Amino acid sequence: MKKVNVLGVNFDNLTTNQFKSVFQARLAKHESTFIVTGNPEIVMAAQENPEYLKILQEQADYITPDGIGIIKASQWLKQPLQERVTGYDLFTWFMRLAAKKQLRVYLIGARLSVIREVQAKLAREYRGIQLVGAEDGYFKDDLDLVARRIKKTKPDLVFAALGFPRQDQLIARLRQLETPAVMMGVGGSFDVFSGTVKRAPEIFQHFRVEWLYRLLTNPTRLGRMLVLPKFVVRVKQARKKS
Ligand code: UDP
Repeated sequence: MKKVNVLGVNFDNLTTNQFKSVFQARLAKHESTFIVTGNPEIVMAAQENPEYLKILQEQADYITPDGIGIIKASQWLKQPLQERVTGYDLFTWFMRLAAKKQLRVYLIGARLSVIREVQAKLAREYRGIQLVGAEDGYFKDDLDLVARRIKKTKPDLVFAALGFPRQDQLIARLRQLETPAVMMGVGGSFDVFSGTVKRAPEIFQHFRVEWLYRLLTNPTRLGRMLVLPKFVVRVKQARKKS
C-alpha cells in the first residue's frame, strides 16, 4: 500500500471509502488495529518527542490525513494524498456501523459531563450499540492499568478522546496487548458529538478553514497553531533535500 512520508510520519494514501472498507474487513476478522488521524500539529509534536514519533512509525497501523495542512504538504512533496479523511467523520461512521451491527464499543475521554452526554445521545439515536465502557478522560490511573481494564470488556471498537499524544499512548498499549479491536484516537470528537463544541459551519468547511473557526471561537488555541508556520518551513526544507 502506498504511503506518503511527511517529516517521518507515513500517511496512507487511501480515500475515505477505501479506509472504511479496510477497517470493516479488520473489524470482521477481529484484527487488532490502531488508527491515527494525523494533522500538522501531531507531525510537529512527533518532531520534538521521539517516543511519540516511534509510536506513529512503529505501532500505528493506519495514519489518515486529517487536516488540509497534510494534504498541502503532500502536494509540495510531489506525492499528493488523495483526500482529507477526518477523525470526526470516521467516528460518526463507526457509530452508525456499530448501531447497525450491534458492536461492543468502549469510549474513553473528554470531561465527565461530555461523556455522559455522548452516552445519552447514543442511547437515543444509536440504539443497537453495546456500550461496554464510557469514562471521562481525567483519570489518575496509569495507562497500562487502563488498557488492561478496557481489554477485559472485550470491545470491538475503542475510541480515545484524550488529545495527543496521550490517546495514542493508550491505544499503543492496547495494541501491544493485542486487543482484538479497531481503535482510534479522536481528539475533540466527543465534545463535538455531544454538542458541547460546535463543528465549523459549512462555509468554513467549504473554504477548508475550519482551523480558523476553531481559533476564532477558542483563541487559547493560538499557541498550538503557532507550530503551523514551522511545519510549512520544515516540509519545504524536506522537499529541497529530496
Ligand atoms: N482531554 C481528556 N483528558 C485530558 C486532556 C484532554 O480527556 O487529560 C480531552 C478534552 O476534554 C478534549 C480532548 O481531550 O475532549 C482533546 O481535544 P482537543 O480539541 O485538544 O484535541 P484535538 O482534536 O485538537 O487533538
